[in-house]
Amino acid sequence: MRKIAIYGKGGIGKSTVTSNLSAAIAAKGFNVMHIGCDPKADSTNTLMRGAVIPPILEVQRTKKNNVKLDDIIFNGFNNVKCLECGGPTPGVGCAGRGIITAFELLESLNAYDIFKPDYVMYDVLGDVVCGGFAMPLRRGYAEEVYIVTSGEKMSLYAARNIATAVENFKSKGYAKLKGLILNSRNVAGEYELVKKLADELKTEIVIQIPRDGAIQSCEDNNVCVMEGSPQSKIADVFRDLASIISGDCC
Ligand code: ADP
Ligand code: MG
Repeated sequence: MRKIAIYGKGGIGKSTVTSNLSAAIAAKGFNVMHIGCDPKADSTNTLMRGAVIPPILEVQRTKKNNVKLDDIIFNGFNNVKCLECGGPTPGVGCAGRGIITAFELLESLNAYDIFKPDYVMYDVLGDVVCGGFAMPLRRGYAEEVYIVTSGEKMSLYAARNIATAVENFKSKGYAKLKGLILNSRNVAGEYELVKKLADELKTEIVIQIPRDGAIQSCEDNNVCVMEGSPQSKIADVFRDLASIISGDCC
């Protein structure tokens, strides 16, 4: 089982990248579990044809100790198993804490033993890397970390913070930074800006994803590009990324 966390600033394209990547890895015949760890709970929307799945924390609030796996795990495109951690009531409680609670519940329900995923993909907000949002990096939840960034200042700033958090946990044998995913925003000198950060972090740019209108038009139809536009150039980019990450490339 490979456990991969995709981090990045809010709005940078984490859910777009992670859901297309989950779909592309699943298309290779792997069993994929996709866990949205952003309080927005919208990571799996385009894998679920727009159906909003109940976030784990919400289900737990109503069902208390009677939560079953069927209440929180849903079959999406290419049989990707979709889950959303969710978040607290706005203004009350800690969003990071929610991730911990959701992970503990999945463990207590033996979700990983029952579904036996080849890949677990975590889609995690990285604006704040507090203990809660760093949770996927700890206790062996995620082993490999990819950071989505553009050349925009705030995105690079968040990427550096996330990399620092990964580095801080490395000594304990937890997650490792595997590379940056450049999601283009077409800022001047974008590749060079991101490459400079990659060099500083002693990592590499694993792929450059162009800006492509097909992503948004598919999103408007509630599907990921792997489903809505599988012959497009951008779908090829996500297939390439899946090949790079799964190791059957180059
Ligand atoms: P995050 O999960 O990081 O908050 P999203 O994946 O929801 O971000 O992406 C935010 C918006 O940017 C979405 O509307 C998405 O369609 C759009 N988007 C992301 N990547 C691209 C891209 N490469 N080209 C065009 N639009 C993109
Ligand atoms: Mg998202």
